[in-house]
Order: sequence, then structure tokens, then C-alpha cells
Amino acid sequence: MPNYAIRTFGCQMNHSDSERVARMMEKAGFKAVEEDQADLLIVNTCSVRQKAEDKAYGFMTKHKRANKDVKIAITGCMVRQTGDRETSRDPLFSFDSVDIAFRIEDTARMPKLLERHFTDHDFSGFEEAFGDGSIENYFNIVPKVENKAQVFVPIMQGCDKFCTYCIVPFTRGREISRPMADVLEECRVLVEAGAKEITLLGQNVNSYKDGEKGEKCFAKLLLEVDKLYEKGLSRTRFTSAHPQDFTDDVIEALANMKTRCPYIHLPVQHGSNQTLRAMNRNYTIEKYNDIIAKIRKAMPDTTLATDIIVGFPGETEAQFQELCDFADTLKLDFSYTAIFSPRRHTPAARMEKDFIEMDEKKSRFHRFDEVVKKHAFARRAVFVGKEAEVLVEKSEPAGNGLYRNAGRTREFFEVWFLAGRSLIGKEVKVTLEEQKGYVFSGTMPEVEAERFKAPAKLKVLSV
Ligand code: SF4
Repeated sequence: MPNYAIRTFGCQMNHSDSERVARMMEKAGFKAVEEDQADLLIVNTCSVRQKAEDKAYGFMTKHKRANKDVKIAITGCMVRQTGDRETSRDPLFSFDSVDIAFRIEDTARMPKLLERHFTDHDFSGFEEAFGDGSIENYFNIVPKVENKAQVFVPIMQGCDKFCTYCIVPFTRGREISRPMADVLEECRVLVEAGAKEITLLGQNVNSYKDGEKGEKCFAKLLLEVDKLYEKGLSRTRFTSAHPQDFTDDVIEALANMKTRCPYIHLPVQHGSNQTLRAMNRNYTIEKYNDIIAKIRKAMPDTTLATDIIVGFPGETEAQFQELCDFADTLKLDFSYTAIFSPRRHTPAARMEKDFIEMDEKKSRFHRFDEVVKKHAFARRAVFVGKEAEVLVEKSEPAGNGLYRNAGRTREFFEVWFLAGRSLIGKEVKVTLEEQKGYVFSGTMPEVEAERFKAPAKLKVLSV
């Protein structure tokens, strides 16, 4: 039986896609192994920045050099055309290490491409599982979920917004939404299998429609997913949202949800209207502030995270200052801040005459970071001494029979604490004892520690 490994770069969307790719590989009769033992290495790529692409190229080169017989299949945001060297003109094939490329929506069709490369493997018994390679077919692949408690469910693909710095509308294509009945069925199955947290995924989740017809109805979808609270769902999250479609009905729905998390991630990208226009973001700072004011009025406990690009071409010192003032007024709880780097084939990459020197961009990045930290740390300090619900994501041995567990509160704060065993997938109460920067350390209250104590060791009976 041939084997495979998947390396995923980029966002949660890519990680979710990889779970569907893994399922297809199993259906095709491949076995999952470590990367350095794989006959087939699937690289799920991100192209949000040039650096992300360079990382993927570096990874593929390293593995092909170490083992010239390994087949490398590339997918994700860097791929525009499905095929291999003989059938595709995708420029990716100018890179020697790539053997196969497939668009993520062609995942179900991908094992067909492997036939020529794995001639000893009999694919004939798997034909039925492959499907026709349509987007519906892709969505209908049941993901091979790694962490059953925290799951990701794609609700749409692609983007119609065309921000000037972004390649996604060209690589992922235009927006396509999944029928609501399919999304809800996948959520139901996952919750019945133990999911406590569902993250709804898409490039623009709040422009979701029920399939391809009708009005935008993200609010309705949220309320329908929320009904799974009765079956054990505790948290509903979503990413990414866009300010343009963050309508009042979405805010109202959120405020009425039992599974709501008091955390909103709403990318704004900049604090200057002129820069937003240059980015083609289609909203103003006033509109963004208005949305946040409504969210905070309806749900005062909400923490706020955003995405920012510092040093966009032509960003003046005055515009940068507007960005800092904006963050200072808004009191962000977190910012995923990136220094602008041109992404090939985007309009922003052609604004060369307005590029800003790297030293200046770095200096602005650090100045902006200080503004964010000031408020983010102060806000977290308020939580010290309080009890929080933590959904555990990671765990590692810490010696003396203890485990260092880590997870997130409903506000999306990261918390580390010791326990007598690995608690991955459990939602536990933790007292937040100390805050260091963005991260808390805590302890489990006695009653909770008792509830999750290490299982008694099995006695070995001598016979
Ligand atoms: S909204 Fe803009 S940044 Fe987000 S995926 Fe679409 S084009 Fe890219």
C-alpha cells in the first residue's frame, strides 16, 4: 500500500481543506505516515504573501533533494490548474520538484491523477469514491478530523472583493456558497461525534448565501447552527468576516446565540480611509467603527481582533498616524499585523513607485504594535483572578506525572495550566492566576481537578 503525508501552510481554511484531502487519500487506499517516509507528499499552500510561497518552495526542494523518488503534489492557494507535467500548463511546473498540481475543489478527482505515478497500486476498486470533481463533490467529502472536539466546517469558497493586495479571488475563484442543509448536516454529524466548538469557514463568511440562490443569510445559518447546543455544541466561531457584509441581522443573531463566543475577528486592514480606498476595501473607518459600536452595545463582553497591513504602498506618516489613533480609540484585544509585502500578479505589486523602505515599514510595525499591546494587555489584566472556561487544544508531558495543557477561553485568550493528564478536547474551568503579555497561566479549581484527575493505574495481576 503506498503512503502519503500532508504538509499544510496558511490559515484554518487550508487546515480544513487538508482534512478533506486526507479522507480522499484514504479512500484511494493510501496510508498516512510521517513526511520523511512518504511516497507522496501533498503540500497545501498559502499565497497570502510572497514569503508564504517561498516557504512552500523551500519545503518541497528540501524533500525532493532528500528523496528524489518522492512524488510531490501541490494544492491550495498557489495552484491555478489541475494536472501534471504532461497535462497542465500551470507555471508551477517550471519548478522541478512539483509532480502533480490540483485545485482544492478537484480533490475528489485527484486520485485519478495519481494512477500514472503509482502504477503498482490498483485504483480500480476506489473509482466510485472519486466523484466528478465538482465543487459540490468537494464539499461533500467527509473530512478526516484530527481533533474531534474542535472542528472546521467550510460554508463557502472564493471571494468577490478583489482587495488590491490579495491573490485569493484569482486562485480560489469567485464566491460559491454551500447549501445550508449540507452545512447543517455536516455540523450535526460532527457534534454527535463529540464536537464542542465549530468554526464556520470561508474567505467572506458573512456574504454566505444558501447555495447559489437567494439573499445573503449568514445570520440565519448562525441561528441554525446554534440549535446544536441541545446536542452538546458549546462554541460557534467563524472566520473570515468582512465589514461590508457585517449587517445588523448578524449582530442580532449573535446576541441571541447560546453558543456565541464573546470574540469577534473582523479584519479592517487600515485606519485611514485613503489607504482603505487604495486597498479597494469598500468601506470607511466610520462604517467600521459603527459596526463595532453596535456589537459592543449588543454584547458588551465581546473581545475584538482585527487584521492590519502596515506600510501599504503610499502610506504617509499622517495616514499611519491615523491608523495608530484608530487602534488607540478602538482598544483592540488583538491584531494580526503584517508588514506589506507585494504579492505577484496583484495590483498592489504594481505600485512600485509608492513602495515604502523596509526599515520604515518595520519601524511603523513596532510603533503600531505598542499601541495594540497597551490596550490588549490592560484588558487581559482585568481577567486575572477570575475563572474561565478553557477548551484544551494542546498538551505536553511536564514531568512528575503532570501535563502542561493549553487552550482558549471563550474570549479567545490563550491559557496554560498543569493537570494530571492530557485534557485535549475537554472544556474545563481554570482560574487565571497570572498574565504574561497575551498569555495566561492558571490552575484548575480543586473540584474541577478532581473531575479530570488522572485515571487510576491498571493493576497488573500475577497469575
Ligand atoms: S476580502 Fe480581500 S483580503 Fe479577503 S480574500 Fe477577498 S480579496 Fe482577499
